[in-house]
Amino acid sequence: MTGEAQIHPGETDEFAFHAADNALPEAVDAAIVGGGIIGSSAAYFLARQGVSAAVFEKGRIGGEQSGRNWGWVRQQCRSPVELPLMMESLRLWKGLPDALGEDVGFHQGGTLYLAENEEELAELAKWLDVAHAHALDTRIVRGPELKALFSAGGRWAGALYTASDGRAEPSRAARAIARGARAAGARILTRTAVRGIETAAGRVSGIVTEHGRVATRAVVCAAGAWSRLFCGSLGIRVPQLPVLNSVARLPPGPELLTGQAWSPAIAVRRRADGGYTIAHGETSIHSIVPASFREAFKFLPAFRASVGSTRLRIGADFFRALATPARWPLDRESPFERERVLDPKPDARVLREMRTGLARWLPELAALPFVEAWGGMIEASPDILPIISPVERIGDFYVATGFSGHGFGIGPGAGRLVANMVCGTADPAALAGFRLGRFFDGSPIVPGPAI
Ligand SMILES: Cc1cc2nc3c(=O)[nH]c(=O)nc-3n(C[C@H](O)[C@H](O)[C@H](O)COP(=O)(O)OP(=O)(O)OC[C@H]3O[C@@H](n4cnc5c(N)ncnc54)[C@H](O)[C@@H]3O)c2cc1C
Repeated sequence: MTGEAQIHPGETDEFAFHAADNALPEAVDAAIVGGGIIGSSAAYFLARQGVSAAVFEKGRIGGEQSGRNWGWVRQQCRSPVELPLMMESLRLWKGLPDALGEDVGFHQGGTLYLAENEEELAELAKWLDVAHAHALDTRIVRGPELKALFSAGGRWAGALYTASDGRAEPSRAARAIARGARAAGARILTRTAVRGIETAAGRVSGIVTEHGRVATRAVVCAAGAWSRLFCGSLGIRVPQLPVLNSVARLPPGPELLTGQAWSPAIAVRRRADGGYTIAHGETSIHSIVPASFREAFKFLPAFRASVGSTRLRIGADFFRALATPARWPLDRESPFERERVLDPKPDARVLREMRTGLARWLPELAALPFVEAWGGMIEASPDILPIISPVERIGDFYVATGFSGHGFGIGPGAGRLVANMVCGTADPAALAGFRLGRFFDGSPIVPGPAI
């Protein structure tokens, strides 16, 4: 198994369900399906408000996207719809090490979006209007200033730069937040798949896990790439498609920058261990699944916007999805127990292209081996923006999903918003842009930036 937040041989999972010492609670106020950064953060903020909350995770905390991502805590080039939440999230990241008493590798080293020529720089500079409207410290850097920030920067004409952007370690963050949630009173149970929910008079009354039933008054589906399947089994449509991104880790090497830099050929982040997390700047792969056809109309604008950067492929994922039932009896094994950790293989061609990108653009790192390479399945929504929303069909059932490759940085902020939504104290204006209903009420679907 690859990916950074995995339990390595000899390690034990501190959150694992045990019939005795980490047993199912009988009842909680709020049950959270999924222990990624969103579910863990929601539990943390619920528990800190005195709400009894529990996270139920089929595999391990941060085992899927939240432990496999690039680790960018980035405001730069986000859609104005999610930027205020991201800025709030950054404020929370800054306080996390103290609040949790743990080092999550958070560091404000800035984000650079590199341009090969003046035309590309002018294109990037268009985002300055958004930055200035939100009083962000984004600016254009070039020449010696760029080289001082990024010693390899002389190869580019200039860059869009946000000094206040941060980075953190995906291998640590979700688990540290889950520990913080537990310390605040939340229950965290891994190897505990949620098969479905129970309702009474149209409202949530309980969840059914593989180990038994838990009574609850609210359920949050923070199931990442599984949210469409989970919600679909309840008759709730969540438009979401999977996109594979391939990532590699370089060992400690020369310090070229302290934050992260993106270009179409290569994306690079300095790690807390002195190494680098790298990826292709543009290429992701959409493995066609039956839902690709069902949701084609809603995703058409996003497909159009990503022509050239999203490759399509059809293969085993299609047939696996075809063979997955849409509903299942709650007293039998569910699809969630059959795949504890979604661990897709990185794409060999993309990894080769990353090597070429390193040799061309970052020769200082080209001799370093890929110590580890892994795949991560991003769950994209039609407008590349999160869904943080109650649903109409079932009272007190909420979704927090569709973070579309941007959910790590925004995770703590989104978790707090989810907690407030469940408690009924969220500012309606803060939730307005994230309604699930936006995909069904005839609103135009305008995709935000993918990177
Ligand atoms: C390769 C890659 C690079 C990325 N880079 C960045 C980046 O640099 N910056 C950024 O901000 N974002 C980035 N992202 C996106 C970010 O990682 C995700 O948006 C974020 O982690 C989503 O968190 P989550 O908690 O919603 O989902 P996940 O982390 O996927 O967690 C969902 C969890 O739900 C569990 N689950 C599902 N169904 C059930 C069930 N029925 N019962 C129990 N448990 C269940 C799963 O096992 C999983 O652990 C990247 C993503 C990838 C894949």
